[in-house]
Amino acid sequence: VERSYIMIKPDGVQRGLVGEIITRFEQKGFSLKGLKLFQAPKELAEEHYTELQEKPFYPELVKYIVSGPVVGMVWEGPGVIASARKLIGATNPLNAEPGTIRGDFGIQSGRNVIHGSDSPENGEREIALWFKEGELV
Ligand code: ATP
Ligand code: MG
Repeated sequence: VERSYIMIKPDGVQRGLVGEIITRFEQKGFSLKGLKLFQAPKELAEEHYTELQEKPFYPELVKYIVSGPVVGMVWEGPGVIASARKLIGATNPLNAEPGTIRGDFGIQSGRNVIHGSDSPENGEREIALWFKEGELV
C-alpha cells in the first residue's frame, strides 16, 4: 500500500486549519496511520528539503518550517501520493484551484499551509525521517 507524509506547516497550525485539513483527508477516504504536533528541529527540516538546497529560497524555507509547531501525518491508501497533491493544490497558492487546500487558504508560496510527498520513494524517506516505527499504526 502507498503512504504519504503530509505536514501542516506552521502557518496552517497557527491559523487553526488543522481540523479542516484532517477532515478533507478523512472525507476523501484515506487512512490515518500516524499523527503528531511537534516543533521541527532545523536539522530535520534541512534534510526533509535536501533536494532544494541549491534553491535561493532554501534558507528561508527552512526558517519557515521551524518557525512554529507543525502537524506531521502519515496517510495511507491507493494512489495517496498523487491524490494528496491534488487535494493540496499548486505550490504557489495563487495558482492553486479553489477547492484545494492551498487554493482555499493561501496567497504566498512561502506560506503555503501544507506539505505533501511528491513520490512513493520520497514518501517513505520522509516518513522514516519524521516518525519512529512505534509511532505508526
Ligand atoms: P511541498 O514539498 O512543501 O509539498 P511542493 O512540492 O508543492 O511543496 P516544492 O518545489 O517541493 O513544492 O517546494 C517546497 C516548498 O518550498 C514549497 O511548498 C514552498 O513552501 C517553498 N517554495 C517553493 N518555491 C518557492 C518560491 N519560489 N519562493 C518561496 N518559497 C518557495
Ligand atoms: Mg515538494
